[in-house]
Amino acid sequence: MPTNAELFARAQHSIPGGVNSPVRAFGSVGGTPPYLVSGKGALLTDSEGTEYVDLVGSWGPMILGHADPRVVEAVTEAASHSLSFGAPHEGEIRLAELVINRVPAVDKIRMVNSGTEATMSALRLARGFTGRDLIVKFAGCYHGHVDSLLAEAGSGVATFSLPGSAGVTDPTTAETLVLPYGDREAVRRAFAEHGENIAAIITEGAPCNMGVIDPGDFNAFLLDEAHAAGALLIVDEVLTGFRASATGAHGFDGVVADLVTFGKVIGGGMPVGAFGGRADIMEHLSPLGPVYQAGTLSGNPLATAAGIATLSQLDDALYAQLNDSATTLISAFDEALSAEGVPHSINRFGTLFSVFFTDRDVRCYEDAKSQDTDAFARFFHAMLAQGIYMPPSAFEAYFVSRAHTPDILERIIAALPAAAKAAASPKG
Ligand SMILES: *Cc1c(COP(=O)(O)O)cnc(C)c1O
Repeated sequence: MPTNAELFARAQHSIPGGVNSPVRAFGSVGGTPPYLVSGKGALLTDSEGTEYVDLVGSWGPMILGHADPRVVEAVTEAASHSLSFGAPHEGEIRLAELVINRVPAVDKIRMVNSGTEATMSALRLARGFTGRDLIVKFAGCYHGHVDSLLAEAGSGVATFSLPGSAGVTDPTTAETLVLPYGDREAVRRAFAEHGENIAAIITEGAPCNMGVIDPGDFNAFLLDEAHAAGALLIVDEVLTGFRASATGAHGFDGVVADLVTFGKVIGGGMPVGAFGGRADIMEHLSPLGPVYQAGTLSGNPLATAAGIATLSQLDDALYAQLNDSATTLISAFDEALSAEGVPHSINRFGTLFSVFFTDRDVRCYEDAKSQDTDAFARFFHAMLAQGIYMPPSAFEAYFVSRAHTPDILERIIAALPAAAKAAASPKG
């Protein structure tokens, strides 16, 4: 078997930076990413045969653990009937109904192939519906790599401290108003100045791509502000949907947005996104309305089979377990870092949490950027060396799954003291 280093070196010749998504390259923590060959439950195995406890879960989708038998069986069964029709099939209706029955904001929903496509399409629909151009977004929120949403985005854009992205034109970013997260006065000012031309506010259900931030009642405030000006609220639940709680951010604040975007969990690990919302808005989509939106592989039968098999296993007992696991890990991380005097603060939103390597109370992107990312990198590598696979960036959420049983959590907890020591001392 080739080593991780051999594979990473070989990948540099054929794939830019060796990866198909930037954060995977370990750029901000240094070192070589493990090349994975299999996952089962909460465990991953790399090409060298090293086993890791997974705290990434493919950035959220693997809420049942890797290779969940019922999901694998559903996908295998679907594959035997064709990998793609490019034509209607019943699985699409079943997945749509599963979402509509759970999420009050969603009367109608359309499937796409990624979270990026979902937010991109939701913006077009919001603009087509309102006849307005401007979009309000918040610094540090990530909504996929849509051109107009890369302004001060979280996730990889935060990881690499980029102001935005080359290749995005000024006229495009000029149609995006970027405001500090949680800053109600800035929102009021933006609407006072531009209200008549704002199509929508887009916000993460809870910010999770600059690390996790609890929105409190901010989404309810945004809904009121948007509606007062005839604009829409788009809540991006690509990460939080079916993950933070059974109904995502809605489960905490009860906000019924005009449009909601999904991805990650809704595809159970397959490349899937979706956007849904109020019927009168969704009916502006082609073929009923004037807003064009399409996809050769959208509603793909394997993707819908994985989504149905995943969503239908998400019950109250699962969320209770995930919440307990998060509670256990949060106190263990806190205890280990406190014991070594490592400045940190921990934020939580439902089953999601993240550790910030700063003593600031983190409420916005400025706070998140105050982290000691070198301390995080030392912590990360000490965990990895002990077989714990954490997000390779200080700006990401941590993900537990149904397969994170007490013995798995124990393995994570046992690795924490040495990692906290490494974080505390630059000499390791
Ligand atoms: C991951 C993510 C996206 C983008 O989804 P992709 O499937 O990676 O395109 C959009 N919004 C949020 C909140 C996300 O976390």
